[in-house]
Amino acid sequence: MTVRVRFAPSPTGYLHIGGLRTAIYNYLYAKANNGVFVLRIEDTDQERSTKESEAAVLDDLKWAGIEWDEGPGIEGDFGPYRQSDRTAIYKKYADQLIETGKAFYCFCTDEELEEMREKALAENRSTHYAGPYRDYPLEKAKERIANGEKPVIRFKAPKRSYILNDEVKGKVEFPEDMIGDFVIMRGNGLPVYNFCCVVDDALMKMTHIFRGEDHLNNTLRQLMIYEALGFEIPKFGHVSLLIGEDRQKLSKRHGATSVNNYREDNYLADALNNYLCLLGWSHPEEKDVFTLKEIESIFDSSRFSKSSAIYDMEKLKYINGAHIKNKSNDIVLKEAQEFIPKDSPFHLQEETWKMSFIELFKTKISFYKDLSIHCDLIFKTQKSSGPEVDEIQSWQTTNQIKDFLEQRLKDLSSEGKKFASADDFQFWVKEIKTELKIKGKQLFKGIRLVLTGDPEGPDLKEFIPLTPISVISERLKNI
Ligand code: GLU
Repeated sequence: MTVRVRFAPSPTGYLHIGGLRTAIYNYLYAKANNGVFVLRIEDTDQERSTKESEAAVLDDLKWAGIEWDEGPGIEGDFGPYRQSDRTAIYKKYADQLIETGKAFYCFCTDEELEEMREKALAENRSTHYAGPYRDYPLEKAKERIANGEKPVIRFKAPKRSYILNDEVKGKVEFPEDMIGDFVIMRGNGLPVYNFCCVVDDALMKMTHIFRGEDHLNNTLRQLMIYEALGFEIPKFGHVSLLIGEDRQKLSKRHGATSVNNYREDNYLADALNNYLCLLGWSHPEEKDVFTLKEIESIFDSSRFSKSSAIYDMEKLKYINGAHIKNKSNDIVLKEAQEFIPKDSPFHLQEETWKMSFIELFKTKISFYKDLSIHCDLIFKTQKSSGPEVDEIQSWQTTNQIKDFLEQRLKDLSSEGKKFASADDFQFWVKEIKTELKIKGKQLFKGIRLVLTGDPEGPDLKEFIPLTPISVISERLKNI
């Protein structure tokens, strides 16, 4: 049997990172099992669903590289894949439940329902639906509908307990009487999520459903509907939720929660996918840096974790940096260009310079945009200020170093060189030690301030060969 899984977002906003994680798990499960990954748009909540949101969700999924095998734009044998295009199908199954006495028309108004609820609370009784329509004659109900009334359809919740053998949580028991008769079709003829979800999952032949454990209560309702319609029940896996450091469900309070924010902040799709995947699943070799492609064949539902994962922005940043480091210089050069401001001197340099620059700095950054900070340091001609700079500058040895290096740079320029090499730099250090007899702090801090204008910074034998002699000479004038 072909494994079929799905991601079923409701287009009521941007794609949430928890949603992307669910999509990733289903996508990987399909890949690992030569299965089919379906994307279904759950847009029956007319008030909250928008076309813009749907477009944004699809765009975010594409950015993340989560391509669907069937879904909007890729029609397969089980479409349409947008619930708003399937209303006739839901009606057919709702009618079937009505005719078989497993659901009923309910004409209660919101006020009546609220009154019943309050009365039940006051009398210390269960607040489950206890209106007069569960056993109302169907013929009478149909007459009222023919006269223009628009009842909801309620499902008759069976009075028994249910057991779910969950792929992640193990055995889950739902005691009897957890829920009352619930609405499956609204008065306007549109289905409610728990109903259309079951109809679609069954007709689209889903074999596995991986989703967040916040859906467990829905699963109880869904099990009842599967049973009533005689559909085969797929395997369910409820993955742990993402939580913040305060152990509360992840929300905007904890930082950015929409995928779009991470795109704007220059995170790599590979890194975000990698990090989200780790929040609830672990690599068999305990690796924490990988691409989805690398784990496609080994992804396995036995490695889902039962406990909630704490969302840690620092770890995500670290993983982003690790993905940059793992890329070839060519790729970094290609991908990073657009994140370096247009007026950065970076764009004026030759290809070989850019490659050396990337080779040195790709291991030191978390984001592509950070490259421009390092580039600015290379090309800045001002010295920094502060007590440490003043102190170094007050040493007489610093002046000697400055005169010495000025001469050496002139020599190189007159030889037609534009850059000093790492060997040149090491030779200067040796000469300053032996000829000027300067050593220790005076030597190292002095050279650094004279050459870079800063009291601290990166390894000079890597930094200096990237800095044009013209820029260093300009800096020297300010020392
Ligand atoms: N549309 C539902 C949601 O976005 C889908 C839940 C499910 O996977 O069944 O939460």
